[in-house]
Amino acid sequence: MSTGDVLYEGKAKIIYKTDAPDILLAQYKDDATAFNAQKRGTITNKGRINCAIATHLFKVLEAAGVATHFIDQPAPDQMRVRTVKIIPLEVVVRNIAAGSLCQQTGLDLGRPLAQPLVDYYYKDDALGDPLLTPDRIFLLSLATPERLAQLNQLALRINQILIAFFQNCGITLVDFKLEFGITADQQLLLADEISPDTCRLWDNSEPDPDRRVMDKDRFRRDLGEVDTAYTRVMERVLGQNTSAP
Ligand code: UDP
Repeated sequence: MSTGDVLYEGKAKIIYKTDAPDILLAQYKDDATAFNAQKRGTITNKGRINCAIATHLFKVLEAAGVATHFIDQPAPDQMRVRTVKIIPLEVVVRNIAAGSLCQQTGLDLGRPLAQPLVDYYYKDDALGDPLLTPDRIFLLSLATPERLAQLNQLALRINQILIAFFQNCGITLVDFKLEFGITADQQLLLADEISPDTCRLWDNSEPDPDRRVMDKDRFRRDLGEVDTAYTRVMERVLGQNTSAP
């Protein structure tokens, strides 16, 4: 697929314009970053692995009635997506305590949460993606109360769908990050990607707390076999069909 001008280059993807103003092309990269890009590296074949996983998961969500930006996958590491204006919020859903939740609250790693927790972070690298409160979201005009309620409801619905899907893969969905965008005609769509870069995924058949890790924590924490873990996730995800259960 021929590509147009670069609209935006992020840490994990390059976004190209296409001939159609309402369609963009996302090129998934092998580059990996962590800790607000202080740690950099590459993960072999990550571009095509994450593109395949995200494609499959967007199809699963679409089949369950969630509107996403996904159109199709013209090449193994390329996704055509609907043009949206990204809402600068990172919507994180957590089922089990891990990462910054443990660091900031003292909750033990691996503690199941009584109900899913939805956290909002300001998508701003210069500020270090700070945790927001609803009032700060309104203060900064990042969302109206109605939009925030809609995002919350959507995030929890996506969580239910993905928990069930990953359970069928023998994987526990610990937490994950979503981004949403709005089309020119004001439609709210799930955007960005869902992949081992943006989720914490634990192998149900591995009790060992390091060996069970199948996501970017392997890269963040130098646990090794990062590409092997990503490939395993891909194989298990692609082994499940995309239709609603
Ligand atoms: N996450 C992400 N991008 C970010 C920050 C977090 O995809 O910029 C994902 C991360 O992979 C994890 C979840 O969101 O699945 C929660 O991350 P957390 O807040 O615990 O931050 P971390 O410990 O990764 O710094």
